[in-house]
Amino acid sequence: MNNNLYEHGTLAMLMAGKLSGTITLAELLKHGEHGIGTLDGLDGEVIILDNEVYQADETGTVNRITDMDATLPFASVHHAMNETTLTLPKADFNILNDTIVKEHNFKNVFVATRFHGVFEAVKVRVAPKQTRPYPGLLEIASNQPIFEKQNVSGTVIGYFAPELFGTVTAGGWHLHFLSDDRQFGGHLLDFVGTNLTGTYQIFDSLEQHFPVSDPEFRAYDIDLASLQADIQAAEGH
Ligand SMILES: [Zn+2]
Repeated sequence: MNNNLYEHGTLAMLMAGKLSGTITLAELLKHGEHGIGTLDGLDGEVIILDNEVYQADETGTVNRITDMDATLPFASVHHAMNETTLTLPKADFNILNDTIVKEHNFKNVFVATRFHGVFEAVKVRVAPKQTRPYPGLLEIASNQPIFEKQNVSGTVIGYFAPELFGTVTAGGWHLHFLSDDRQFGGHLLDFVGTNLTGTYQIFDSLEQHFPVSDPEFRAYDIDLASLQADIQAAEGH
């Protein structure tokens, strides 16, 4: 096993409305037992913990996904290894961005993190399933269900990516949340937690996998001029 981040699909592709699932869960899980993603048609937020796959859907329900033929347009997974303990006496996005990224010098590397504890507040959004013809992510982002919960114990899992790669994947933090009772989850927009503990893992390399046999992927056009601004508008938390 290599200490790499395996990513299927690209953020630019989602921005362009290329949302059909192009990798099966069975194939994805060969490349990592932890990760995040979304299902075919941008159907919810996927959280993968120790090979168990969950989907937070647009109704606010969390579903366990056991159909290994389910497909995803976009996902990031990794094998846990070389992990360093992470202790967060207090945590929110400001602390992750200002303290953690700087203290650990993350800015130019891909990093996985997973941390657990009781969260005073968690705010998530969930991508609503789209039907063809698929709109781009920017259009979808303006109309996504948001869910909030207080005093919830759970796990945050996801990645930090250098800004340089911010059109291939989300630059900065991209984190998902799943409660311990597996009833609440989604793409993390905001949170406050104290005495959280977990790990981080700095990757040696990024393995970017493309849906090469998908004719739509081969044909789609990128509007490079507006891409970064659109991603900021769609993905900023
Ligand atoms: Zn997400």
